[in-house]
Amino acid sequence: MAGEICCQIDVHSVTKSFPSPGISFSQPPPHQPEISRISVTNALDGQLNSSSNGQAARKRLKDIHMPGRLMEDFLNAASDNTNKNLETCGVLGAFLKGGTFYVTTLIIPKQEATSNSCQALNEEEIYAIQNEESLFPIGWIHTHPSQSCFMSSIDLHTQYTYQVMVAEAVGIVMAPTDQSRKYGIFRLSEPDGMSILKECQERGFHPHTEPVNGNPIYEDCSNIIFNPNLRLQICDLR
Ligand SMILES: [Zn+2]
Ligand SMILES: [Zn+2]
Repeated sequence: MAGEICCQIDVHSVTKSFPSPGISFSQPPPHQPEISRISVTNALDGQLNSSSNGQAARKRLKDIHMPGRLMEDFLNAASDNTNKNLETCGVLGAFLKGGTFYVTTLIIPKQEATSNSCQALNEEEIYAIQNEESLFPIGWIHTHPSQSCFMSSIDLHTQYTYQVMVAEAVGIVMAPTDQSRKYGIFRLSEPDGMSILKECQERGFHPHTEPVNGNPIYEDCSNIIFNPNLRLQICDLR
């Protein structure tokens, strides 16, 4: 498909256009103000969904088709880091057709990682690809090389920034050493989890109070369909 060729060219040109050696590492992962420029339509869509009550929002969530090889390919790309007990993160791009999202692109940005964190660098390279191919930022994926499969407090804040843009956005955790659960596809509950994260001003690892009504702060996604016919293009910018 034309998109694939496009991406190859983009990665090349993007890398050249944004050498950006001076990008600050101290930029906090959540609340990137410039990210909203990716698509105003997306942002509005997310607002509309999240402003309704949880039940209605859940019903209205669009299905997301994912390539059958997404997780396997990501784990392969992450394996060097995983062997060194370092996290790896990637960003998922999707197109919207007939009311369904189709994940077609995995962007692996330049990044800085520890055993329990991963920070994308040169994020404008991610936006450039998404803009160029008119992709929705449908979520993100990262490894827990030695930890179990769950969303840390920092993960929840990152997830919030995606879910504000696109109500369907997912956070995928790959935990190859977790014997009980190798992966999870998560989202913040609406409205409870989203409200808690919206109000939370803390940074770094910190506890979140659970919703008083007993609902979870985040939950498994139920609108995911693994589609073996969907091809995945990987833009590895590292
Ligand atoms: Zn994590
Ligand atoms: Zn918080």
